Amino acid sequence: MSPSEAAGNGDPAAARAGAILTVDLAAVQANYRRLKRELGATECAAVVKADAYGLGLERVGPALLRAGARTFFTAQLDEAIALRRILAEAGVDESPKATIFVLNGVVAGPAEDFLAHAVYPVLNSLGEIDAWRDAAEAAGRALPAALHVDTGMNRLGLPQAELDALAADHARLAGLELRFVMSHLACADTPEHPLNAAQLAAYTAARARLPHAPASLANSSGIFLGQAYHFELARPGVALYGVNPTPGRPNPMTQVVRLQGRILQVRDVDAPQTVGYGATHRATGPTRIATVAVGYADGYLRSLSNRGSAWIGDHRVSVVGRVSMDLITLDVTAVSREAARPGTFVDLIGPEQGVDALAEAAGTVGYEILTALGRRYHRVYPSG
Ligand SMILES: *Cc1c(COP(=O)(O)O)cnc(C)c1O
Repeated sequence: MSPSEAAGNGDPAAARAGAILTVDLAAVQANYRRLKRELGATECAAVVKADAYGLGLERVGPALLRAGARTFFTAQLDEAIALRRILAEAGVDESPKATIFVLNGVVAGPAEDFLAHAVYPVLNSLGEIDAWRDAAEAAGRALPAALHVDTGMNRLGLPQAELDALAADHARLAGLELRFVMSHLACADTPEHPLNAAQLAAYTAARARLPHAPASLANSSGIFLGQAYHFELARPGVALYGVNPTPGRPNPMTQVVRLQGRILQVRDVDAPQTVGYGATHRATGPTRIATVAVGYADGYLRSLSNRGSAWIGDHRVSVVGRVSMDLITLDVTAVSREAARPGTFVDLIGPEQGVDALAEAAGTVGYEILTALGRRYHRVYPSG
């Protein structure tokens, strides 16, 4: 398949696009099943915050439901409300059975908004517990909730002093249907980090002081720390979207994203001419420069200036000069004029360079590459 064939597909919107983002929903589903295999009897939830890590909740949510996910996590209440609608419209029999939790908790909105859409908070503090208990009393029924205890991340969840208070007074949970008690690992992508075992121990100790409820600790990387971290429910996000949850080891996940940028113009430059803003790249001899219609406004990070790579077929070409808002410039001197001509597409994320490799070149993590993916891309969802 030639790059232009891969990108074009006869769709007029694709034909106009400066760049095409292909999101392989079948790969998302394969990743979900891969994680389920790793988890055995443990339930595999799906974390779909931030528009399913930038890949499009509208399409990714139903694909995960069809793959078997029944518990979903968003960060914000509005994301959860959107997901409830999306799953209902997906017309899958299982839609009503999906449980949706809001990680940012009950402070994210008034209780009526949660109840109207049948989405539930992860309670992160005694104040939230009290607010949700009041909501249960007002509703005249037990309300589902999850409880988050902090075990060393120091970000969200009950701090130690609040855990002590709750452990001494279980009545504060009266009227709540505690679906699970969770915590979150700070260093799961670094298996040898001592904080993993310390958090596991703190979590086990915390659970013993609370009313019995199913447990959830592992994110994507946590799943690969082994069975001791699995408990009843795992909460993977990024691995579903193809990012390697085991950095430094082969990626067990299937790549989900392909990003192809269109060449707008090709020009010949020669020493001592420079390329782009700030004149940060100087030609040392006859050079051909291809200008591609992707820039930092599309989430192609500016830190990739003079550092990123693209692929034209199996030729690696370098980003030269600064990444600008709408454009990047590539040194295509080594590629034939036929292969690098205006209108053709280059792979910015693709078979030769996955999200993790691009992230490394940019000095960041795959999470940021995915969630920065631009809104101007023409998005294609070939299956699902
Ligand atoms: C984002 C998030 C996850 C998912 O993490 P990944 O590393 O993307 O798998 C799980 N749990 C909590 C509390 C989170 O905030």
